[in-house]
Amino acid sequence: MLESAHHLIERVGKSLGLSSEDIDFLLSIDQEHIFDITLKNGTTHKAYRVQHKNTLGPYKGGIRFHPGVDLDEVRALATLMSLKNAAVGLPLGGGKGGVATDPRKLSEAELEELSRAYVRHLHPHIGPDKDIPAPDVNTNSQIIDWMTDEYEQITGDTTKASFTGKSVAKGGSNGREAATGRGGVIALRTVLEHLKTDKKELTYAIQGFGNVGLFFGVIAGQMLPNLQLIAATDSSGGISSAFGLDPDELAEYKKQGGKLNEHKAEDAVTITNDQLLAEEADILVLAALGDVITEKNADTVRAKIILELANGPISDSAYDLLTSRGITVIPDILANAGGVIVSYLEWLQNRAGEHWEEAKVNEKLEGYLIPATKKALEYADKAQVSLKEAAMAVAMRRILETRDAKMSRKKES
Ligand code: NAD
Repeated sequence: MLESAHHLIERVGKSLGLSSEDIDFLLSIDQEHIFDITLKNGTTHKAYRVQHKNTLGPYKGGIRFHPGVDLDEVRALATLMSLKNAAVGLPLGGGKGGVATDPRKLSEAELEELSRAYVRHLHPHIGPDKDIPAPDVNTNSQIIDWMTDEYEQITGDTTKASFTGKSVAKGGSNGREAATGRGGVIALRTVLEHLKTDKKELTYAIQGFGNVGLFFGVIAGQMLPNLQLIAATDSSGGISSAFGLDPDELAEYKKQGGKLNEHKAEDAVTITNDQLLAEEADILVLAALGDVITEKNADTVRAKIILELANGPISDSAYDLLTSRGITVIPDILANAGGVIVSYLEWLQNRAGEHWEEAKVNEKLEGYLIPATKKALEYADKAQVSLKEAAMAVAMRRILETRDAKMSRKKES
């Protein structure tokens, strides 16, 4: 993953005519914090926080708890956070954290102990003006509430702006839970308007009907009524129906803990995840994991548009194969940026001591995401590059221009 991220930065950097010093600046990491957390039960867990760049503002990015977490993965994700925040115009840098652990093997008390210990190790390096972590894979608002409380106890900071993704009762923002899915709908709508597709009804399939995929389906039903869901899967596989599936009904079923391949819907047949990728749908929504489309299965994809809601669901080599077939890929750094945008709005509310209505949060989310998507679309048309390269180019330029402006202000003073 780190190699893919670096390769993309180098490729876009060369197309922008950047110097090797500038490319090295974008690849290099400001600081890395690596430590061990030993729990009372005697187990030790490797923990990381990587702070990539704070050129635009405080570092920002999630913390994941997963057995597969390692330094290179956290470095790659921190780098991508810098680019995502820059691509959508947030005054934030990029960071990412992780603990190599399987949270399913921890009791609730151990999970709380781990979360609080993470903050005790890291607290001098994070905070509302330095680095503001958030939830990521296997971390949720409960874990962030524990972390925020620990930070408050150690430092006395009562703003709650040290973390985002808190529960609404503990200073979280309305609209945060649905924000990534909602952002995906907004990015897709903006691209569809730009492409001026003349097809009245468009069909779509979702891989990964979890938090992000489920909200995408429900909100697409409200905001894009000409879209029809025809297939959806989770890790068990799923179902497909040429007559359409009801996203609200599937969301309700998933919230009750059901597996999609056991769901009984009229005229639907069960499918595997491989079959989902090859569905005859206009739009393919990837909302599960990284690297699900590689050069091995890229030729099975039949959709004309792919929305990357997961981080890095298409490998580098598969990307080229898909774009050479004229498939439009709406890249992760735009498609799933809704989460970090509303995290930023949560931070603003905490700092101002305010709590906004969801309608205001959603309006501001659109205010960041629509212009950012339009800017990338314009760049892609002008430079004749893919939307991913365009979004990356906009982001990389913004970071470098801000760095140069800061340096020249420093020289003048
Ligand atoms: P989640 O765990 O709630 O949902 C993931 C879903 O994918 C689950 O339904 C799971 O069963 C399914 N899944 C797992 N393996 C699968 C497979 N091989 N095929 C099909 N489905 C599979 O996680 P989430 O919060 O919805 O996140 C989904 C993706 O979006 C992740 O890649 C995450 O990094 C990314 N993302 C999430 C956010 C956010 O705000 N939650 C923000 C940005 C990016």
